[in-house]
Amino acid sequence: MNFKAMLLGGVFASLIVSPVLADGHKEISAEKIKEVTSKIDTSAIIANDKADKNWPTHGLNYGETRYSTLNKITHENVSKLGLSWSTSLESRRGVEATPIVVDGVMFVSSSWSIVHAIDAVSGKELWRYDPEVPKNYAHKGCCDVVNRGVAVYKGLVFVGAFDGNLHAIDAATGKRVWKTDTIIDRTRNYTITGAPRVYNGKVLIGNGGAEYGVRGYITAYDYKTGKQSWRWFSVPGAPNKPYENASMKTAAKTWDNSAEFWKAGGGGTIWDSMAFDPELNLVYVGVGNGSPWSQKIRSPKGGDNLYLSSVVALNADTGAYHCHYQTTPGDTWDFTATQQIILDDIELNGKKRKVFMQAPKNGFFFVVDRTNCKFISAKPFVKVTWATGHDKDGKAIVAKGARYENGSTYEAIPSAYGGHNWHSMSYNPQTGLVYIPAQGIPLTYTDDPNWKLNTHVAGQAMSGMGWNLGVVFNKVPPKEKPFGQLLAWDPVTQKPAWKVQYASPWNGGTLTTAGNLVFQGTADGRFVAYDAKSGKTLWQTPVGTGVVAAPITFEHKGKQYVSIGWGGVYGQLQRATERTGPGRIYTFAVGDTAPMPALVKRDPANLVSGVAFKQDDFGPGAGLYVANCLFCHGVPGVNNGGNIPNLGYSSKSTIENLHDIVLTDALQEGGMPSFKGKLTKDQTKQIAAFIQGVADSLKPKPKK
Ligand code: CA
Repeated sequence: MNFKAMLLGGVFASLIVSPVLADGHKEISAEKIKEVTSKIDTSAIIANDKADKNWPTHGLNYGETRYSTLNKITHENVSKLGLSWSTSLESRRGVEATPIVVDGVMFVSSSWSIVHAIDAVSGKELWRYDPEVPKNYAHKGCCDVVNRGVAVYKGLVFVGAFDGNLHAIDAATGKRVWKTDTIIDRTRNYTITGAPRVYNGKVLIGNGGAEYGVRGYITAYDYKTGKQSWRWFSVPGAPNKPYENASMKTAAKTWDNSAEFWKAGGGGTIWDSMAFDPELNLVYVGVGNGSPWSQKIRSPKGGDNLYLSSVVALNADTGAYHCHYQTTPGDTWDFTATQQIILDDIELNGKKRKVFMQAPKNGFFFVVDRTNCKFISAKPFVKVTWATGHDKDGKAIVAKGARYENGSTYEAIPSAYGGHNWHSMSYNPQTGLVYIPAQGIPLTYTDDPNWKLNTHVAGQAMSGMGWNLGVVFNKVPPKEKPFGQLLAWDPVTQKPAWKVQYASPWNGGTLTTAGNLVFQGTADGRFVAYDAKSGKTLWQTPVGTGVVAAPITFEHKGKQYVSIGWGGVYGQLQRATERTGPGRIYTFAVGDTAPMPALVKRDPANLVSGVAFKQDDFGPGAGLYVANCLFCHGVPGVNNGGNIPNLGYSSKSTIENLHDIVLTDALQEGGMPSFKGKLTKDQTKQIAAFIQGVADSLKPKPKK
């Protein structure tokens, strides 16, 4: 089948499992959508906090707690949860979005930034809006053509499209109202994958692109017109130009100009996390990694390189810098601080404190005073080797060897994948616990002696090709094993309360509710409800393939629902020939009984066998596989299905002759780039050794 045709999705009919609606549910009209969405503004979003009937903004509330006070679904009746409906998003790529729900209408984005309005009671699609991202834009993004959600405000729906355009859509009709270009330099590889946030008539959106060499910033636009209200850059620009504001002057002192860092942009993209405190009138934004990754190349004499890897508080009206806390000084590992920022008031030493909490990639859980960004506490929530702790001002003490000094190799724990990534966490004030999709995917870092700045040649989506890193991965194979877990973390004692171990890293975001529940989708294709206090599994259902998106809950006509979409980087692996269910939203309620869509499973007995390989090739092959193959093809035999083949199920001759595909343009039409000049034939043998080795380990052992 033609790969492009597949991506366009035109060949896939919409699959809707018809719901049984005993209450004679009527389809919602455009007038009604207009009426209910027009009421959504800053005060409505704040007021929703008391009842949580709707899910009106990305993190449920402006503090982004993802804690719902709805308690009709409880730890006692959750076992009776059944499917209300499931709706296909006709997406063959990752679905990472958190849906927005307003009075029974759901707005959710899927891959290629396509927005769907869905009747949240019946699952019927009401309209679909395609921002028409050019398909050749895919190679400008690091991690698939994903979108993490939309925003709704006064009758409009906002989506940041993958090509960097911000669109405002009429919530009632799905027609475009305005569109604005957020990109400052179209010769660079800027993208948008994050969800906009809207408050006080301003739509806030940042960009991605730090892997390719860009300068990060965040922009606020007028919700009615799309006109720019303010913009804040996260790193300094070229020194021959004036500073945009005082915070840039401060930041410039923490960079070394000798390597002309501004030519690679410096990085610091604000690609995901934001939170808003209406009382303090501050927005909090999470800043990403440096461009290039290696600080030795970017800023050879070191320095903190502000405001990389920081949470920054900005005046909500003007975008003026208020304060910051830097989670990783002088980042050299891709330790972004773009992970979720939760605002809440918690009791510490008998005193209520206004804090923000973050579990960024670097593996420390941070509690910081959000009025002034002063450090309160930090403890590792997973194993951490890059820093030994924090000084009294809260500055990380970097461990010897962690900067892979003098040509040495450092095994990063956590690595660039993060001890926690963008998958949302949630904070339940009843249990006092934060529920973190924690993980570890080890990588070793060594200097790349061949690195040359190249910001204008596009890479290949998710392959690592064309990235400006200055780092070679897994030249020495990592010793640690990957893991994934649901971690319940006490932010007061900075200790774990309980953990659930998973088969794989890269699990979905979490939701917690007043029903003493935590919901999470897993990489191994389940949707699970846990007791929030104990971590006991109370209910689960298979959803066919790995989940990375976060669940939501809402109430309509007195009934509480829970919804989740699946997909993500691993979600790209959904395979047309294997499964009937492309990217999909599932909605559940107590006592509902709609049938789950049929799904076909891979049989591990059919994994590739018989490819002869040298055991010594397995380790280097693992490193090469992670750096070159993993993002598209997944872990052999683990991330099954998908429109891109899982190589664990290749034929013996394909794996034996991998160089015939990898080092030629044989499959270019299907989207597979040639690695000629990047990999050698011997290295393809090492990759083959890794694939066969993993397949051997996953095959069921013959019964004796
Ligand atoms: Ca990054």
